[in-house]
Amino acid sequence: DAKRAGRRRAHPYEHAMTEALRKRQEIVDGLHDAVKGGGFRLAFQPIADLASGITCGYEALLRWQHPERGWISPEVFIPIAEDAGLIDDIGRWVIAEACRHLAGWSPHLYVAVNVSAAQLASDALLDHLTQAVMTNGLAAERLEIEITETALIRDPAKVAGRLERIRKLGFKIALDDFGTGQSSLSHLRDLCFDRIKIDRSFVLRAASDPRSMAVLRATVRLGRELGVITHAEGVETSEQLALCREIGCDAVQGYHIGRPLIPLIDMGMPYYVQTDRAA
Ligand code: C2E
Ligand code: MG
Ligand code: MG
Ligand code: MG
Repeated sequence: DAKRAGRRRAHPYEHAMTEALRKRQEIVDGLHDAVKGGGFRLAFQPIADLASGITCGYEALLRWQHPERGWISPEVFIPIAEDAGLIDDIGRWVIAEACRHLAGWSPHLYVAVNVSAAQLASDALLDHLTQAVMTNGLAAERLEIEITETALIRDPAKVAGRLERIRKLGFKIALDDFGTGQSSLSHLRDLCFDRIKIDRSFVLRAASDPRSMAVLRATVRLGRELGVITHAEGVETSEQLALCREIGCDAVQGYHIGRPLIPLIDMGMPYYVQTDRAA
């Protein structure tokens, strides 16, 4: 034991390392249980058509409450789920659950689900999408998948082929968080997207920073010339909404339009629970 203690002193980071690994394992265990036992929820955030001002769809955002650690952000647990080989099962649930809700909504509405790089690399995605719309009797064009630029760079040729097949079946594809990742105009040139979601950092700074404004304005123009729907994320104020209208954005999303809410209707409660912190 004295020997072991000596080794601990020799490696001062060891304890912190083990602690981090233990925490991570706790999350992995929790994710396993959640996949099996229904511990996930979807929150839905409205997307408004700017010309009409009407809600045209909702983005489904995954929510997970760890039994001990409380709410954990998808930005934290999705990468862990990918590492642990759980993302296909989680992704399947997200797609199925989003479609189950969509089936009860007005037919003019669509639902968007986020798809990570690992999901896009797997053969299962196409099956999950097809199964979900068939089971719920939905037209494929009412389901949109959101991918980030990071998902495109891993194996561009393979991903391009996959996206093409998904799109041929009628599903819509959005490029998420545009402008922040490994942005490349070649993505817009080589791949067919239905929608560009311009990252909220541009909207946030546009009013005070002429350079952000210039990039935002130019991206909207570029999108329009490509025949793609331009969509601004992170619209938090009426001023930002007015700005999006002025530069000709097609769609807007953000706290000013509506927060992500978990429908509790399944539990017999006809109200919604807010999932993001108040601004
Ligand atoms: P995202 O797809 O870009 O989602 C938008 C994020 O911004 C959401 O955070 C949303 O709650 C937040 N948001 C919406 N409006 C505003 C606003 O006006 N201001 C600010 N400050 N934030 C706003 P969330 O739900 O924490 O999701 C974070 C990321 O996690 C998502 O980014 C997406 O990449 C990923 N994600 C969420 N759900 C899923 C899922 O089911 N599957 C996968 N693979 N990834 C998911
Ligand atoms: Mg998204
Ligand atoms: Mg986004
Ligand atoms: Mg994001």
